Amino acid sequence: MQLVLASHNQHKIQELGAIISAAVPYVELIGYDGPEPIEDGTSFLENALIKARAAFAHTGLPSIADDSGIAVEVLGGSPGIFSARWAGGRDAAANRQLLLAQIADMAEENRGASFVCTIAYVDSENEISFTGIWPGRVATEEDGLKGFGYDPIFIPEGFEVTAAELDPEVKNSISHRSLALEQLCSYLSTL
Ligand code: IMP
Repeated sequence: MQLVLASHNQHKIQELGAIISAAVPYVELIGYDGPEPIEDGTSFLENALIKARAAFAHTGLPSIADDSGIAVEVLGGSPGIFSARWAGGRDAAANRQLLLAQIADMAEENRGASFVCTIAYVDSENEISFTGIWPGRVATEEDGLKGFGYDPIFIPEGFEVTAAELDPEVKNSISHRSLALEQLCSYLSTL
């Protein structure tokens, strides 16, 4: 079964494709080169659905899309869907610095945050979503060189180091993305 990932990012297609094929061998993940819809949803779920629906409409094949970000409790769940552009552009370092400055006065117990990933699946009969949540807190300063985005300022629950200090295999086995993917794979294996 061919499954379309609504993304132009070859690296992402290969990485997710390998994980999905390992769990569900008859699924082959392929890329999507059609038009990218405007992501004007108000939640991770809405945005993931917008992208998966667009890929399904364009290809006629079962399609998935993901949307992710970081939700900080004291900010009411922001940056949330605005995570990628929190400081105005797509500059990950500027996003991190703005977030650190916004909650600079908060004590450790008030710095709770989660990484969230929602994957939407769309075919001719089904629309279903899977959400993974990776709880933790926002650090007071950047640490670590691995990962991307907010990893250098996110300390996962049960750790005293940031996600950017974890080996990729460790992060990939417990992250919000892996939790959502696990649920997706279980679902795919029932099709
Ligand atoms: P998207 O790529 O448009 O879904 O935006 C997701 C944004 O959320 C990224 O640009 C990052 O800023 C942030 N994000 C999502 N997942 C992670 C993660 O695993 N580590 C660090 N930042 C993440």
